[in-house]
Amino acid sequence: LNIEHISVQSLVKDVIPIVEQQANHKGIEIEQYVDTEGYIDGDSARLKQVVINLVTNAINYTPSGGTIKLELKNQKNSFLISVTDSGIGIPKEDVPRIFERFYRVDKARSRNSGGTGLGLAIVKHIVEAHHGTIDVESEYQKGTAFHITLPKKFTKR
Ligand code: ATP
Ligand code: MG
Repeated sequence: LNIEHISVQSLVKDVIPIVEQQANHKGIEIEQYVDTEGYIDGDSARLKQVVINLVTNAINYTPSGGTIKLELKNQKNSFLISVTDSGIGIPKEDVPRIFERFYRVDKARSRNSGGTGLGLAIVKHIVEAHHGTIDVESEYQKGTAFHITLPKKFTKR
């Protein structure tokens, strides 16, 4: 990791132009809720890759006309970044496995997006390398939310 002092707002704001075209193309709106600013120690390129991966999943697994919420919130000892979609959701029995390498919920339904099933394994790895956490809440056929926390103070391992 290339650890620098980075703005948490930029992690959210810089990702928007990268994913906007893909979202527009599918008629999906991305709403931003940024109510805080602060700095963390982290690898800016890797953390942007995390947010890009989560938003790309949200676009891929949300039907046209859906909405994606990208939020940044201040917590006591960490910042919270959430990506919430109104998409197809994840069946309860699959939720515990989605962070495994090559795991895809349903090959038939995911085929169109042409992924490999590595995205979330990489996301989890990067978040944990920053001493952060990642959680998922999902309701099948309703939508999914991924929550990432990144500590305000980074301690070297
Ligand atoms: P890639 O390696 O290109 O990212 P992928 O998107 O299939 O491929 P992951 O990002 O690791 O792989 O996601 C794993 C699986 O979890 C997906 O195949 C999909 O079934 C499910 N999934 C991930 N994000 C969502 C989401 N926002 N809504 C519904 N299902 C999701
Ligand atoms: Mg993916």
